[in-house]
Amino acid sequence: MELQDIKGIGTKSIERLNKLNIFTVEDLITYYPYRYNVYNPLALNENVDEQETIVINATIESTPRIFYIRRNFKRLSFKALANNLLINVVLFNRTFLYKNLDIGKEVCLVGKYDKKKNTFVAVEIKLNWLTETKIEAVYHTIKGLKNTQLHQFIMNALPLKETVCDYIPTFLQEKYHFLDKRTSILEMHQPHSKNTLKQARLRSIYEEFFIFMLKINYLKNRNEKIKGVAKNYEEEKLEQFLSSLPFELTPDQATAVQDCLKDLKSEKRMNRLIEGDVGSGKTIVATITMVANTFSGYQSALMAPTEILAKQHYETINNLVKDFGIRVSLLTGSLKKKEHKEILEKLRNGEIDILIGTHALISEEVAFKNLGLVITDEQHRFGVNQRGNLQNKGILPDTIYMSATPIPRTYALTIYQDMDTSLIKTKPSGRKEIKTYVKKESELKGVLEHILKEIKMGHQIYVVAPSILEQEERNLHDVNNLKESFDTAFQHKVKIEVLHGKIKSKEKEEIMDRFQSGETKILIATTVIEVGVDVKNATTIVIFNAEMFGLATLHQLRGRVGRNDLESTCFLISDYDKERLKVLEESNDGFYISEQDFLMRREGDLFGTRQSGDMVFKIADLKHDFKILLYAKEDSKIFLKSTTNLEEKYQTILKSVSHID
Ligand code: ADP
Ligand code: MG
Repeated sequence: MELQDIKGIGTKSIERLNKLNIFTVEDLITYYPYRYNVYNPLALNENVDEQETIVINATIESTPRIFYIRRNFKRLSFKALANNLLINVVLFNRTFLYKNLDIGKEVCLVGKYDKKKNTFVAVEIKLNWLTETKIEAVYHTIKGLKNTQLHQFIMNALPLKETVCDYIPTFLQEKYHFLDKRTSILEMHQPHSKNTLKQARLRSIYEEFFIFMLKINYLKNRNEKIKGVAKNYEEEKLEQFLSSLPFELTPDQATAVQDCLKDLKSEKRMNRLIEGDVGSGKTIVATITMVANTFSGYQSALMAPTEILAKQHYETINNLVKDFGIRVSLLTGSLKKKEHKEILEKLRNGEIDILIGTHALISEEVAFKNLGLVITDEQHRFGVNQRGNLQNKGILPDTIYMSATPIPRTYALTIYQDMDTSLIKTKPSGRKEIKTYVKKESELKGVLEHILKEIKMGHQIYVVAPSILEQEERNLHDVNNLKESFDTAFQHKVKIEVLHGKIKSKEKEEIMDRFQSGETKILIATTVIEVGVDVKNATTIVIFNAEMFGLATLHQLRGRVGRNDLESTCFLISDYDKERLKVLEESNDGFYISEQDFLMRREGDLFGTRQSGDMVFKIADLKHDFKILLYAKEDSKIFLKSTTNLEEKYQTILKSVSHID
């Protein structure tokens, strides 16, 4: 069953859904609302609170009239009877409702009541009475795809038999008396009551954790059962490579390298997590291990979460290894058909030693000759439901995961304790603290002066704004507006470019190239630059609407600067949330910051959770739902122990982490 098989979804809609990262029917039905509107109708009377948005039922008593106030600004007004009070109703701009509003029509109004003027200022009109409390799902969506449309697609998909796949085994389903999966998903999108919604959430959270922990426990078990290949390389050759590196490894890096090499040489299949704060230098550890793997006669694959990062890894790594006869290739979506085909062929013939790319590497057509090592960068970024596996004949490759773990240590320990871990605690020496300042919008002038000074010194600047997805709440800065303001401020004398997720890959690469080379001075971007991007000459980052981001995300973003020994500065621009943002002024320590982030985050309030985007869980919140995680963890172990023949559906999800089996 594919998206196009669902009623109402055509090619245009598919394009838009893809932009929301919805590719499969399962993605669609688990595209959960980020918020709910609760409509609780009440009887209008003299005592209602004028400050509060209320919901009332009314009957239209006069033909609506439209007033043109000025261009693009219209007012619709009519008289209505609400609970025996005759009131005036006004509504701005949504005048297209006009044709539905006849005398005698029963409507439901959402808005505020001004007693003195006896006027109800409506922000929303529903075309029938609401007799009981209604909870309505609100989704993050994009232009061209309305909330109601998205909701309807989901509703059209849900009744279809093949769309829902339940991952909670029957014995656990019975133990916890969960709602069944279909009911639970339906409740998530169209809740009957707060209580049923709560039950549905509970089940969804548990299932998400269960799958996650199942994957981790599976990796652990698998490695105990199945032997890998013991790799052999000439120590001397590796020594030569090590002495060619442009810097000395930090002690933690050296230890991590030793851990990886030991695993590589052993018959045990490597399953290692390299954990280290932003800028701690994880890439070099990966590179050295891949070089050792090449010297042993095997191919390596490195997967990055974004194309920008993949390209950057390609350049850095190729530079380091090319003199040693190691052949590196980059596989991205922007390659020409012919180039693409060529790479695939070389890969099969063993003419490529290291392949770098995005998760596109995990596709049917990508087949290796003898893949011996798979490395996943920024592991926490990859979707929990990532599907597919690497194609390889016969050999079981070692696996390394790299992560800046934007979660506090206690949580990290609980989740990852069953994996072998190498921790990189300290950053390379010579790094200065990134000076961080929280500034109000009104203090921008000083920030601009700082930017100009830095540009005059030959340095470069990142400017970050929330992505377009987050725009619906209120007026936020966006990359295009900022480009205009900055162009005006610098009188078009400074080269400024814009980068966001919707730009085509090829163009994205060119924009990054121009920034990397120093031609572009200011790069205005969404969080596409959040992970891994490494431009050493960038010394300042300005983040607008900083209140929209989790502290861990801000810390990652800030990590784009301070990548050499130059003084670096981060400005967090926000009129809100000063207390929380101050944590970043005070600390440069990723672990401390993620702990504070968790402490200060509002309790996982059902009707207004902040989108933090730090972890890949769609609905679970590590802090709020930690107890559920503990249960899911133990249950997943029991399940794996008790089952010898895993059902097909589990095999599919487990392949996605094992990459190959
Ligand atoms: P992350 O752990 O965030 O992925 P990177 O691997 O991108 O960090 O490294 C950050 C920067 O530090 C890179 O520019 C890299 O070249 C540099 N670097 C890494 N290790 C060292 C070291 N031991 N000494 C000096 N610079 C280093
Ligand atoms: Mg990195």
